[in-house]
Amino acid sequence: SNTTIYNFSAGPAILPESVLRTAQSEMFDYNGTGFSVMTMSHRSDVFMSILYHAEQDLRQLMDIPDNYKVLFLQGGASAQFNMVVMNLANGFERVDSVVTGNWSQIAHSQMGKLSHANIHLAAHGGEQYNYTDLPSPDTWDVSEKSAFVHFVINETVHGLQYRDIPKLATALPPMVCDMSSEILSRPINVADFGVIYAGAQKNIGPSGATIVIIREDLLKRCSSHIPDVWNYQSHVERQGMYNTPATYPIYISGLVFRWLQSQGGVAQMQTINALKAKILYEAIDNSGGFYINNVQPRARSQMNVIFRTGKPELDELFAQESTTRGLRLLRGYKSMGGMRASIYNAMPLQGVEALIEFMQEFQKRYG
Ligand code: PMP
Repeated sequence: SNTTIYNFSAGPAILPESVLRTAQSEMFDYNGTGFSVMTMSHRSDVFMSILYHAEQDLRQLMDIPDNYKVLFLQGGASAQFNMVVMNLANGFERVDSVVTGNWSQIAHSQMGKLSHANIHLAAHGGEQYNYTDLPSPDTWDVSEKSAFVHFVINETVHGLQYRDIPKLATALPPMVCDMSSEILSRPINVADFGVIYAGAQKNIGPSGATIVIIREDLLKRCSSHIPDVWNYQSHVERQGMYNTPATYPIYISGLVFRWLQSQGGVAQMQTINALKAKILYEAIDNSGGFYINNVQPRARSQMNVIFRTGKPELDELFAQESTTRGLRLLRGYKSMGGMRASIYNAMPLQGVEALIEFMQEFQKRYG
């Protein structure tokens, strides 16, 4: 059939078609080497060059200052919940943790393992707002004595995003931020953060690569008692080659970075992402209550747009019928129900327009 397929998966998620086509054309023979990137040594000049350029392009896209190190690790964002504590909480008694939704809750529950630090609940968006708004950074209960404050800037499951990017007074502890589901979707000032980390599989590439951007001075905290594989300092000292990195996901990530550059970078992404989110939330808000999203406008995610009809059987019908129209993977997170449209960088405006058209047509039939 001629139906265009739009993939609204929350992750692993849509990738730019041109990137997949390039990967396809280079699958058996990368750049005249006679090898696939999948089958070459991570220490070969060819792969070292792929890694080098991926890092440089990411630095350019995010305007990462020179005093920040960039690592492509494994273990996903989940491994970072613990790595940040193991590495950065040495000699500290307290870590501050902001809970705003599913992922920061999981981080909060994991961070204290293998650490003597007290994981202090600095704010709880569920208790305060039932996950329909985000606690403002000025209300976070953070201490100068804490190792850092951890938060998730975009909650993939609850569809919440700090539209105003948090910034703390310099006397307060460094911010450690999970940017998995929004990295590269808008300009951010890296210098405002101590650590930024992100699993690749939403806005960057395939799962398997995990980006860690860390301010150099924080590396002094990484004790040599931490096993090397979990130690940021060991990875930095070996230029990301302490052990075999996720070579193929890094290669695809590099292709995505080049695609982003060709599209005009994150500033241009922000313009398109804002438009996509605006028309989708308008379609929800203008449906006369047929579609519901209760998130406060200032906290509505531009990446993961959640909505429901109020009737679980209609939501199920929506999921089924949209699938046959080529609008795929719109079911909400298992514990949430309803629908979730993940509209990352690689989702074209036409995909969102097709979704809105379907929503309006569905409402005519069942509203
Ligand atoms: N943090 C956020 C914000 C996420 O969306 C996810 C994955 N959905 C995770 C952490 C966990 O990532 P991973 O599966 O890469 O460990």
